[in-house]
Formats: sequence, C-alpha cells, structure tokens
Amino acid sequence: MKRLVWWTMALALVGLLGGRFWTPAWAEEAKKPSREGPPRNIILIGWDGAQRNHVMECLQRGELPTLKRLQQEGALVNIDVITGATDTKAGWTQILTGYHPTVTGVFSNGRFRDVPEGLSVFERLKKHFGQDFVCAAVIGKSGHCGEIRPPWKKPLEEVQKQQEKAEKRKAKQAAQEQPGAQAKPKPKAKPEYRIVEENGVQYAVFEGSPYYTMHKSCDVWEYGLMLDEKVGTRAIELLEKYKDKPFFFFVHFAEVDHSGHKHGENSAEYNAALISNDKWTGKIIEKLEQLGLYDKTLIYVTADHGFDEGKTSHSYAPYVFLGTNDPLVRRDGMRQDITPTILARFGVDLSKLQPPLDGEPLTQPATKPVLKAPETKPQAEKPKPKAKAKRKTQPVAP
Ligand SMILES: [Zn+2]
Repeated sequence: MKRLVWWTMALALVGLLGGRFWTPAWAEEAKKPSREGPPRNIILIGWDGAQRNHVMECLQRGELPTLKRLQQEGALVNIDVITGATDTKAGWTQILTGYHPTVTGVFSNGRFRDVPEGLSVFERLKKHFGQDFVCAAVIGKSGHCGEIRPPWKKPLEEVQKQQEKAEKRKAKQAAQEQPGAQAKPKPKAKPEYRIVEENGVQYAVFEGSPYYTMHKSCDVWEYGLMLDEKVGTRAIELLEKYKDKPFFFFVHFAEVDHSGHKHGENSAEYNAALISNDKWTGKIIEKLEQLGLYDKTLIYVTADHGFDEGKTSHSYAPYVFLGTNDPLVRRDGMRQDITPTILARFGVDLSKLQPPLDGEPLTQPATKPVLKAPETKPQAEKPKPKAKAKRKTQPVAP
C-alpha cells in the first residue's frame, strides 16, 4: 500500500513539473513560435498619421509596449513616402496596392479615382486563396479612407447649369454681407469631373472613391467608426467570428490623425492617441493569443503619412515606419513595399502579377533602390506659383 502512495505522488510530480524540467532542449526550441514559415493569417494595422519621430520618442519613454513587443519579435523599420502625396487617400491606396499613383490614379486626397479592378491586396488574396479565405476591413475614418462612393455621371448641361446657379448665389450672398465690396474674380477651379460623350450627349463623369471596387471583394467592409475603441472592439468581434478560417484583416485607427489636426503634432492629445493606437493593437494581439492564433498570424503596423513637425497639418510628412512580428522583415522600405510583403508571405508568386508591382517585399533584399524622402518637398511636386505671380503684376483696383 505504502508503495502505491509513493508511486502516485511521484507520478503527480512528473505530471506537474514534467514539461518544465524534463523536456529536452531541442523540444523546447521546436515549441517556440516560429513565424518564419508561411502564415495562416495576416493583420495590417493602420496608425493613420503617426509621425516616425514622435513614435520613436514614445517608444523610448516606454509608452508603446505593443510596438516594442512587435519589434522584439520581428522588426521595426523605416518607411519613406517617395511617390504620391503625404495624405490619407494616396497613402492607404499605395499601402493596399503596392503601386505608384500613376498606376492606381490616386495621387492625393483631391486627385484620385476608383482604383482599377484587381489591384488591391484584398482582390489578390481572394484570387489566390479562393472565396473561403476571409478579407475584412474595419476603418476609423469616414472620408479619405474607407468611403465607398461609386463613380457616377450626369449630363454636362445639367452640371454646368447647377454650377452657374451656385456661383450666382454665392456672389449675391457676398454682396449682401459686404455691400460695396467688389467681388474678386476667383481663378476658376479645375472641374472635379471629366467629360465623356455617349450617343451625342456630353456627360460629366465624377470619380468614385479609391476603395469602391476593392471593397466589393471583402467579406466585411466597415468604415467611419471614428474612435479607436469602436474600431478595436469590432476587429476583436470579427476575429471571434472568423477564427476558424484563414484571414487578412485591415484594421485602421484614426485618432492619431484626428488629434493631430485638432491639437497639433506636439500636443498631449496626439501623444495620447498614439498610446491609444498601441493599446488597441495590444488588445487585438491578446485576442489572437486567447484564440490560439497568435503564432500563426503576422501583424504589420504602419502609417499612411507622418505629421508636419509641431503643426496641425501633414502637407509634407514622408517619414513613417513598419512594426511587425515578422522575423523575416529586415530592411527599410517605401509605402509601396507593404502589399508585396504581405502577398509574398502568403505565397503569392509576385512575378506573375500584372501590371508588375512597383514595390518589393521587405523580407528580401531589394533589387531596386530603396529611396529616402528628402527633408523638404521636392520642387517638382510643389504647386506652381504661376497664378500668384501673375496677379502681382496686375494693377491693383482702387
Ligand atoms: Zn490627416
């Protein structure tokens, strides 16, 4: 009898401590999550408007534990904006396609079109994996990122009549507000439509939003959630819903950009918003861990543009970053390199894609030059000061 008790106790001890003390080192090594192989899932997380320098300062102060963790498990590299405006439409379009604006037609928030069919990371992945693969987008912004307005047209005559009416109304209003003041002739704004002719009738064609066509390939496309809490909570709900299928999620946090415009890049509010982005990114990782999916999921955190130092604008803010748990990411890159990285990690053969991607995976040595954005806006991209110069030489009205 005594012997049996001893044996039971010994077995219990083995059960309790076995894993910790008696597993050989090679088995421990094999148990460690290795994310070097192809992932089951990828989540691309956007910190809209997160300036690289400010992010690095926060990291040094220990304010961004999630980004720090990603850096330790994978990498934190510099991303520079080389083509397209440092704004939201140009930024997310480039990040979600891997192309320069000359291919997508999305140059800036004001100069854009519906991205041609098939070019987005969502459409590429659906084509590669089939319909069982889940694509979802949960987006904080309501304009410039996520909005899904289709292209539309109207007879040109109607559009011009409406415009004339609107101009007359404005002139009348101005005259009422400031009687006697001479209405300044404004330089005519470039029309926001192009003209096409069909069966002898001219139409004004208005562009759709960049995301209109790509959104149709997604299982879930939600935008305008505004608050990080809403975006994060919804993303976590969707992880629960789709946990049994492989997926690609785009989760977009908007609070950094919004607080930057409201309070400035050096404000306490902007700093707090970065901490909030990090916190919600952490909650998403926590959920993945609970579901047992974290070791099979690559996370990429990036931004569409930075912020003008100390200002409430990002007219030239080309310095951002990529933080990831992907141990294969090893080099700095450009905004167009992010989709190629995601596609290559999922096993898509990039050499077969048409038109050829402009970016290259950050997991491989670059074959094209990895460019760094200049400190000041390149001359060619500055708006032409033509109109201003002309006005100066004209005689000033009394
Ligand atoms: Zn902005």
